[in-house]
Amino acid sequence: MEIRIEKTQNPKEKRDEKSLGFGQVFTDHMFVMDYTPEKGWYDARIIPFQNFSIHPASTVLHYGSEIFEGLKAYRAADGSIRLFRPYENAKRLNSSAERLCLPQLPEEYFIEALKTLILLDQDWVPSSEGTSLYIRPFLFGNDETLGVHTVHHATFAVILSPSGSYYKEGINPVKIMIEDQDVRAVRGGTGYTKCGGNYAASNRAGQRAEEKGYSQVLWLDGVHRKYIEEVGAMNVMFKIAGKIVTPALTGSILPGITRKSCIEILKHEGFEVEERLLSVEELENAMKDGTLEEAWGCGTAAVVSPIGELMYKDEVFTVCGGKIGEVTKMLYDRLTGIQWGKIADPYGWTMTIA
Ligand SMILES: *Cc1c(COP(=O)(O)O)cnc(C)c1O
Repeated sequence: MEIRIEKTQNPKEKRDEKSLGFGQVFTDHMFVMDYTPEKGWYDARIIPFQNFSIHPASTVLHYGSEIFEGLKAYRAADGSIRLFRPYENAKRLNSSAERLCLPQLPEEYFIEALKTLILLDQDWVPSSEGTSLYIRPFLFGNDETLGVHTVHHATFAVILSPSGSYYKEGINPVKIMIEDQDVRAVRGGTGYTKCGGNYAASNRAGQRAEEKGYSQVLWLDGVHRKYIEEVGAMNVMFKIAGKIVTPALTGSILPGITRKSCIEILKHEGFEVEERLLSVEELENAMKDGTLEEAWGCGTAAVVSPIGELMYKDEVFTVCGGKIGEVTKMLYDRLTGIQWGKIADPYGWTMTIA
């Protein structure tokens, strides 16, 4: 893949790393590439960060043909820049693309686009404790017609956003509400893909939870409203009577890379991990009889997020005394240790790019 590079004439001023927040600041450049069935992927380019100009009838604006990925570049103590399992993101993007009839993107193009863009904007990778460069690759249908058909023209782009520490005030367990009205996804639908539409469908429940003072919802399956699926936009894990239980990937659940990494670490540490259906009744019983020892969400943004309280049908349960549990803490330390290069990476998960 040949990448044309047009450098910015007006580099932006960098913000103080303490005030970065999440997804608000963007680097100087972006990667863009277009697709048609005749040409395949063409015109790979890195250009100054700028607005898109798209046709008002563009497919993405009407029929929601959009998928994305999310990963981070980390600055290690020695100054090097590392990615965490980026091929997993490349594979998942293609799995999402297949479901939405968007074109496949060769994995090497994905990796090269990321590497080249990050190298050009490497001064934007922050180095303070807990900070990282959030990477947002996305792919959307871009036909200039209102006709409903599979996508012919598509665009793949990558933008970069230096982001602050997720846990500025330390890792505080969150309050979660079990959602029994809205569902996020159904089997046969798009739950296992990272598509924008899943997020749009999640907003109402998330908003209602916030109004009640909860930070997110715990999703139940769309058919029986019985089996636990995910927490907000994270996968979820429980420690019940010494064993780790996490919902099996049945098609409506997003196959998280953090989830996969947690499972590998847990098995490596000798824990029994069960990927299976977990009903809300079973969880309720475990909360009542005290066998629910820990609960946490896991995803790229937070890494792990301990759950300190669960509300189900107006009944409130405290989890792990409202504190972070031992296993949750171990996973957090292990994953962030590997990502920031503070401890050895026995799994070969990190890719040093600079
Ligand atoms: C992205 C995402 C996750 C977490 O995936 P990671 O690869 O671990 O970041 C979990 N659930 C949903 C719905 C997601 O969109």
